[in-house]
Order: sequence, then structure tokens, then C-alpha cells
Amino acid sequence: MSQTEELSEKRNVRNYVGGSWADIEGSDSQPVVNSATGETITHVEFSAPATVDRVVTVAAEAFEEWRRTPVEERIQPLFRLKSLLEDHQEEVAELLVTEHGKTKPEAVGEIRRGIENVEVACGVPSTMQAGHLPNAAPDIDETAVRKPLGVFTAVTPFNFPAMIPLWFMPYAVATGNTFVLKPSERTPLTAQYLLDLVDEAGFPDGVINLLNGSAETVDALLEHPGVEGASFVGSTPVAKHVYETAARHGKRVQAQGGAKNHIVVSESADLDFAVEGTVSSAFANSGQRCLANPSVVVVKDVYEEFADRLVDAVADYTVAPGLDADAQMGPLITDEHRERVLEYIETGVEEGASLLYDGRERSVPEEGVFLAPTVFGDVDPEMTIATEEIFGPVLALIEATDFDDAIETVDRSRFGNAASLFTDRGGEAKRFRHEVDAGNLGVNVGTAAPMAFFHFGGWNDSFFGDLHAQGEDVIRFYTDESVYIERWPDA
Ligand code: NAD
Repeated sequence: MSQTEELSEKRNVRNYVGGSWADIEGSDSQPVVNSATGETITHVEFSAPATVDRVVTVAAEAFEEWRRTPVEERIQPLFRLKSLLEDHQEEVAELLVTEHGKTKPEAVGEIRRGIENVEVACGVPSTMQAGHLPNAAPDIDETAVRKPLGVFTAVTPFNFPAMIPLWFMPYAVATGNTFVLKPSERTPLTAQYLLDLVDEAGFPDGVINLLNGSAETVDALLEHPGVEGASFVGSTPVAKHVYETAARHGKRVQAQGGAKNHIVVSESADLDFAVEGTVSSAFANSGQRCLANPSVVVVKDVYEEFADRLVDAVADYTVAPGLDADAQMGPLITDEHRERVLEYIETGVEEGASLLYDGRERSVPEEGVFLAPTVFGDVDPEMTIATEEIFGPVLALIEATDFDDAIETVDRSRFGNAASLFTDRGGEAKRFRHEVDAGNLGVNVGTAAPMAFFHFGGWNDSFFGDLHAQGEDVIRFYTDESVYIERWPDA
């Protein structure tokens, strides 16, 4: 029996509500497909608005007790969740590869980054503290406190089905809120497994809930009066929609959108190191990553040399099913998505870029949705392939006349999720840090992904809201502050 067949037998996608699994009464459904083989694993139903109402009501009821539970008790199930995630890392990774397509090491890597967020959330007895000032005024002590607010939801994308829910869930509940996760309908099984572990970790009923669905389900959540706030991660048009809808309904919202990130290669860079960082950044996760750097701006003097070395590295890249031991890149998520990526490649050719390495020509496994990496050279910064998020294995090389020109090119982007610089010069690194408008800036780091104790989020069209994920921002997002002003006349 193939792994997909085994999974299909076991996995019936369900909601998790009030501590129990529930079949979904949906208005519509879609298949969940193993993109390495084309086989359908299962189907996911989309929860109707009446189900959304039921789940939010259950989470709101659970909030009344959870908010009063001492913080030290609130973090105990999170410690257990961390251990369970570690114990089940292999199974979660294999399930994730099967429904998403990424390679097993990539899956394990994202689970590790998810676990890191659980660990940081366990520090909430310290991070949730605000401030205290004795004798702030004559005989008056003042104390700022952070309080939980109620039911929060997170709506997450397909590309990191284990990690992204964990950017939010542990912090929301550690701070005393209750939580409803709406995972991507393309990768619901990993979320279902996470919730199995949540169940085993022993959170009180209703504190963490899982609601499957699609756009209609999300809108019902955003419009529901019982939801205090929403975290969103996904494409820019949907991020804007979520931001506007949630705000119109009086909710807190943090909406992380799409990206088109750049690498700058200075003439002083170690070119082999820069090539290695560029290839892993652009093609990991088959390019389906908000931190991928698919636009590479190379200073004129080293452009040809960098392009040659890059093409050599790409030619060696192994494209194979994600569970194969030698796979460096797995399939794309769906056939439709591969068609979109192929259209971008066609547009690049039509707009006059040079195909330095044509992934369409490379032989790849016939079953499934594979597409080898493609590299374009002589790309003008205004071309479609340089400005739009392709979300696939397509890299655009742009030649800059000098370092100033390179920085200007990066800052022309309407996005601002991340950028990286390869250099050997401190002065260039300093200018890059000061002058580039993006939320995550890497120097001699191909993919600028901060650890969970720093906040994570982009600028411009990559983010809508004020407070980002992770770090102190997420604690502030999930709480509001009161200041106690206290005087005792007899003291
Ligand atoms: P998507 O926007 O299609 O879907 C994301 C979520 O929104 C899903 O749960 C989906 O059900 C829901 N959704 C889709 N359409 C909706 C609508 N009209 N109304 C309400 N909800 C809707 O994104 P995706 O394809 O799953 O993920 C890829 C995108 O996510 C890329 O653009 C990528 O850059 C972005 N992303 C951003 C970050 C970041 O941190 N900025 C991280 C990961 C992915």
C-alpha cells in the first residue's frame, strides 16, 4: 500500500471544537492532493457560517475560565506540546511532505522553527509583564498590566503548514486568549496532526480549536462579533481583504502578505558563498516561500562570473519527490500553480530576458507537479518577472552599474518582506541596513529569517497592520494594557 493510500484510509479531515473532533458540515469541498504523485489523499469540506458561529461561541465560553487560569498553569500544556512535537517530528514531517511536496529536511526544518515558537511562548510569565513605577506621583504607585482579550483566529497559507500556525497559537493561548485556527484548505492534514498533539497536551476544552474552510469561512470569522482579532498569512490581495474586513468589524488585525525579495551581490562578495546562499534562498521549498530571494541584483564587475557559477550550481540541483533521500527540491503545490509559473517564464522570454537555464527543458519525475529551477539573465528591474511574486523556482538576475544602483533597484519594489546583501565591506553592510526598506535584512545570509524571540513581518505591500508576528510584537497584539494608579492615604 502506498503512503498516500495508507493516509487516505486514516485521514478524514475534521474540525476540532471544544476538545472533540467533529465532522464538517460544509457547503463545498476540495481534494487534498499528493503533488509528488498526483494522487488524491482525501477531501476537505468548507465549514459553513453556522459552524463558525458554533466554534467561536465555544472558544468564547472557554475564555472566561482560561483568562483567570494562572499563567504558570497556562504554559504547562505548552511544555507538553513541545515534547510531543519533538517526539512526533518524523511523522509530522512525512505527513507534511506528502500533502505539501517539500523535501523531508525542509519539513523537519520548519517543524523546528515551529517548536522554537512554542519554547518562546513558554516565557510568557516574563514577556507578558508590562511595568511598575513606585511613587510615580506623590504617594501614588503606577503599574501597567497586559490583559488577554478573548477569541483570536489565525488564517494560514499552504507553504508552511506546521510552522505558521505555531507563529500564533502558542502566544495567543499563553497570554490567556482562546484560539481558532483556520489552516489552508490545500494542506489541512498537518494542522489536523498538530491539533491531535494539542489534544494530547491537555489544554482545557475550547481553548484551541480547528476550523477547516475557505474564503467564506474566513469572512464569517472576520465578521463574527465574538472574534477579537485575526492574524493572517497569505497572498497580498487576500491580506488586504482580511485587513480591511477585520478592521471594518472592529477587530485587531495583523496581515502578512506576499513578497518579491532581493539579494544584492557586491563586487567584494565571496562569490561561491553568495551563489550557495542565493540558490538555497531562491529554490528551497520550490521557491514557494515568502522569504525566497528570487531577484538577484549583481554589481557589474562580477555579474558574468556570478551568473556562470550560479548556472553551474542550478544544473546540479536534484528535483525529486520530497521523501527521496537525495531530493533538493520537490514539486509545486498544484497543477494550476505550475501553469501560472510557466506563464511567468513565457512572459520573461517575451519581455526580452535571456534564459540562462531553462527548467522546462530538464527532465523531472513525470508523475506529480515538478518543475526544475529556471534562471533568467539580463533582467530589467521593470519586467514582470522582476516585479511580481511568482512563488516558484524562477530566478531573475539583474545587473547593477554599482552599489548605489543596486540599492535603488531593491527599494523600487512595492513589497518589503526581506532582502539580503553579500559583501566583504562593512560600509556597504551599514548602508544596506540603513537604506533598504524591508522588514528582514540579511548580511551574508541568503534567507533572512529571524529567530522567534525577534518579531517577524514585512513592510509595504508585504504587511498590513501594526504589530508583527513573534517577539514582543505578538505579545502586544494578543493583549491590551491597563494602568493601575494606586494611593493608600494611611501608608
Ligand atoms: P492565499 O492568500 O491563497 O491563502 C491564505 C489563506 O487565506 C488560506 O487559509 C485561504 O483559505 C484563505 N483565503 C484565500 N482566499 C481568501 C479570500 N478571498 N478571502 C478570505 N480568505 C481567503 O495564500 P497561499 O497561496 O496559501 O500562500 C502563499 C502566499 O502566502 C504567498 O503570497 C506568500 O508570499 C504568502 N506568505 C507570506 C508570508 C509572510 O510572512 N509574509 C509567509 C508565508 C506565505
